[in-house]
Amino acid sequence: MATGLYTHIPFCIRKCHYCDFTSLPVEEEAASQYIRAFMREAEIRAGLLQPEQKALDSVYVGGGTPTCLPGDSLIAVLESIFFFFNVSGSTEITVEANPGTVDFKKMLSLRRSGVNRISIGFQSCRQELLDTLGRIHSFSQAREAFWEAREAGFDNINIDLIFGIPGQTPGHWESCLKAVGDLRPEHISAYSLQLEEGTPLYDRVRGGALEQCPEDTEAEMYELLIDFLKEKGYLHYEISNFALPGRACRHNLRYWRGGEYLGLGPSAHSYLGGRRFSNRPDLKGYIDSLESGKLPVDWEEEVDLKTAMSEAVFLGLRLIEGLDTGEYRKRFGREIEDVYGEPVRRLENQGLIGIEGGCLRLTRRGLMLGNRVFSEFV
Ligand code: SF4
Repeated sequence: MATGLYTHIPFCIRKCHYCDFTSLPVEEEAASQYIRAFMREAEIRAGLLQPEQKALDSVYVGGGTPTCLPGDSLIAVLESIFFFFNVSGSTEITVEANPGTVDFKKMLSLRRSGVNRISIGFQSCRQELLDTLGRIHSFSQAREAFWEAREAGFDNINIDLIFGIPGQTPGHWESCLKAVGDLRPEHISAYSLQLEEGTPLYDRVRGGALEQCPEDTEAEMYELLIDFLKEKGYLHYEISNFALPGRACRHNLRYWRGGEYLGLGPSAHSYLGGRRFSNRPDLKGYIDSLESGKLPVDWEEEVDLKTAMSEAVFLGLRLIEGLDTGEYRKRFGREIEDVYGEPVRRLENQGLIGIEGGCLRLTRRGLMLGNRVFSEFV
């Protein structure tokens, strides 16, 4: 069975105020040590896979900011993936690119190296909101990055957006959606802002310097998003993801459908052969492990039947098509209502989920309260 490959690039120009991902300010020496370690990890991991697992149907290079790597380092990362694994002309190959770290030349060299999908972190279209988030770029730089990608030949571009930012109004959000809609990207991901403890933005909100976006305003923005993009011809296929026909992200669908994937780089997670494992998050530990010839595994666990049954439900429910109850029966030998009779009935009565055409899915109200629904199945 084909596999998806995720690669984590743990560097950014500087940390955004809301970010709790594994990323450090980029620096030449650390980046070249990372690349050497990454190549070693790719070689060892590929050597442990069955031939059919080495056939990749999706590659996703994320971070961090892959496009902030100095010189040709990002191309070296891609080339080592192509060398150690089997990538074909039909493999979806995505690279995350942040405005302020790309230009036409970089886009062109990515396209020429075989990358066929670019994901650009716009996040917002208003300068004061970008400043609140601590982004390094303006909206016009983001738009420029989009056109540079188009000019370089990318016909599959995602734009990432954030809503529910302190100070953001539904009016701001609507004009942002219009501005992004005018660009006509093939894919849009829009997430509500999560205030993560330990980040500067969290501290400013908790300290009263900024007011958190009220829940009902956030819900209004989510409704606006769904209606606006539907009207523009985008298919709402996952809680936070929208695509023009045929442009859903294959790599992310793999996560939600319970497919196997391998993660390389610090803090990257994997799900292979019924086991989940994660790499150490600290760059030094990651590099030291690989320099001494060891895999940088932080933790590893077998996914038991109970966990697999629960994951299948809450991941499947993220998809708008929902969870195919017949497939569930085929996979686990039990009806979903027999395993989760009580929560299913309760959530149905609350109008948060429904079964239609053999699929269990979130209702429109359930989409807004996804986390409440998922917690019933954990
Ligand atoms: S660009 Fe992304 S990964 Fe880097 S600091 Fe900002 S949010 Fe975090």
